[in-house]
Amino acid sequence: MPSQSNPPQDGREQARVCRETYSALCGRFNGDLLRASDPEYEGARTIWNGMVARRPGLIARCADVSDVQTAVRVANDIGILTAVRCGGHSLAGFSSCDGGLVVDLSKMRDGSVDPDARRARVAGGCLLGSIDRATQRAGLVFPSGVVSHTGASGLILGGGTGWLTRRFGLSCDNVAAFTLVTADGSVVRADPKQNTDLFWALRGGGGNFGVVAEFELKLHPLKSVVLAESLTPEANIRTLLECWRESMADAPLDLKWNVDLRLASHKMNVPAQLRGRLVAGSSLIWTGAPEAAQPYFQRAFSLCHPDSVRTRTVSYLNLQTMADSDFPHGRRYYTKSGYFSYLDDATIDRFLEALATVPSPETQIELAYLGGAAGEIAADETAFGDRSAPFIINLLANWADSSADALHISWVRSVFGKLRPAMKPGVYVNFMSGDEQDRVPEAYQQRWERMVEVKTHYDPGNFFCLNQNVQSKKS
Ligand SMILES: Cc1cc2nc3c(=O)[nH]c(=O)nc-3n(C[C@H](O)[C@H](O)[C@H](O)COP(=O)(O)OP(=O)(O)OC[C@H]3O[C@@H](n4cnc5c(N)ncnc54)[C@H](O)[C@@H]3O)c2cc1C
Repeated sequence: MPSQSNPPQDGREQARVCRETYSALCGRFNGDLLRASDPEYEGARTIWNGMVARRPGLIARCADVSDVQTAVRVANDIGILTAVRCGGHSLAGFSSCDGGLVVDLSKMRDGSVDPDARRARVAGGCLLGSIDRATQRAGLVFPSGVVSHTGASGLILGGGTGWLTRRFGLSCDNVAAFTLVTADGSVVRADPKQNTDLFWALRGGGGNFGVVAEFELKLHPLKSVVLAESLTPEANIRTLLECWRESMADAPLDLKWNVDLRLASHKMNVPAQLRGRLVAGSSLIWTGAPEAAQPYFQRAFSLCHPDSVRTRTVSYLNLQTMADSDFPHGRRYYTKSGYFSYLDDATIDRFLEALATVPSPETQIELAYLGGAAGEIAADETAFGDRSAPFIINLLANWADSSADALHISWVRSVFGKLRPAMKPGVYVNFMSGDEQDRVPEAYQQRWERMVEVKTHYDPGNFFCLNQNVQSKKS
């Protein structure tokens, strides 16, 4: 199997293979073919995570599905290492490669909404923001992630969690059909009636099976939510976490309550007494009638600094873009993630110890509670990993300067190592780093064998290998 860490060719051979690919595509490709000498190349090769700076030999920016077919056929025939890119937000950096080909979908961002059927069709290069803007014009939503510049394809294919997961399920639970270009360049539709194994695998199985050219999405009516935010000072964090774990166990689907543990910034909207101090930030979203939210909000606010509490009704578009500037392109990011069945007191101790050593204000321990509509779907209905583990932790290090790489990476690894014994096996593939390929079977657990079967059928040569990879029996 070719891989980023073990490239199959030396530099000269890579360059030859790239030239061959370029020549084979020239004249029959409608989009752009970008090589290192092209003025647009530098901008086009950059992906979101500044830790991953790769230089592909060729970027094939597809104009349409026939370009995707041509690029995949040519690349597979020639045997060039190939990455597929939608939004370029893979934390692991899977949407680029050194010396190989990038099939770039960033020109394929069309979409259409059918308000009566509550359905949308969106192309495989769409970002979350473009889907939100199109669906909100009809007062509808597609449940997705929390940062609008994230690519829809990678997010949906891995599962997709966000503010509306408890109310409407994961993003992949809200896909009615996929149109996929497979490794031999064929176009295949997967839905509940056709290619049902593929339909199962694409809902959580990531980019293993082909390039999704179009998604048919199920939509729901929603225009605004109630948003409550607050900061809890260090002395109350333990009690807040105890309250959070008990409250979420029987919370209604209308409530999403995320907690992040971090150093408060020095921004004006942070109460002066908390600036530069360790805090727990709470963000609560309520999708039901506003007055019914009060008991839940009061419980959270009772442990907060009173000047930090902010409650307001926000439009869905506002909600979906409010975190955009916290995660800018080009900074350096490293993450490790896992699940807990329950947060016992010793685990809360570990969280507090980890918080005390957090290496920068942008670095966070993110805590979310899944359950709700996502947890009501049977474990074998989709390829998505564990739906029953309600507590998700994500250690997300975020810094600017490469001289601080070792500090941040070792903090994440050390905290993860201490938390791991109490974790439930399993991980959400979209929150994995590039050095965690050994955890991919753990992510799929009892679904692994079926994933291998579907992979062997649709991609026997493991052409689509730059992802949380499932190898075929033949590769
Ligand atoms: C700032 C930020 C916020 C995030 N927030 C959330 C969140 O709220 N919820 C959540 O669940 N996740 C979230 N994530 C994680 C996110 O789901 C993954 O990083 C996801 O892979 C991003 O998708 P992308 O299309 O931008 O990635 P890319 O880097 O373009 O691709 C990621 C993977 O998907 C494959 N792929 C891309 N397009 C296609 C396609 N059309 N067909 C087949 N395979 C394809 C790629 O080959 C690669 O393996 C976030 C990530 C970031 C960086």
